[in-house]
Amino acid sequence: MLEIRMTPNMGRGVFATAPIPHDTLLVKCEGWLAASADLKDDWVAMQVGPDLWLCSLSGSVDDCINHSCEPNAGFVTGEPVLHALREIAAGEQIGWDYSTSIAEAGWTLRCRCGSAGCRAIIRSWFELQPEERDRLRPIALQFLRD
Ligand SMILES: [Zn+2]
Repeated sequence: MLEIRMTPNMGRGVFATAPIPHDTLLVKCEGWLAASADLKDDWVAMQVGPDLWLCSLSGSVDDCINHSCEPNAGFVTGEPVLHALREIAAGEQIGWDYSTSIAEAGWTLRCRCGSAGCRAIIRSWFELQPEERDRLRPIALQFLRD
């Protein structure tokens, strides 16, 4: 259903190999849990709590999904599990909004997603505009929703 491919401008990305229906479970983000102070440079880490990170060594599908400002995948259950937010066509790149998992002050990422609503600079959850948080809350991790 998903495969890792090179993209022209975003390094590796994850693509649908067949049409995927709305609400399909796409990927469970997996790894081990670590506190901020214990993170190592060669780990891929995704924030899942105020001082809790889900860590892995790069290479699995969940490490290769790019950010999108108009994501077709999101954390609809609040768990670190991505579901399809709409029907996804074969060949389409999977994207989730990185602001829906990160709460680290000052974190930014330049975005090249090319969507009409591209925010250009992706920010940490608490540094989004309140209306952006309201829009993204239904697809954010649980620790950011309250
Ligand atoms: Zn963007």
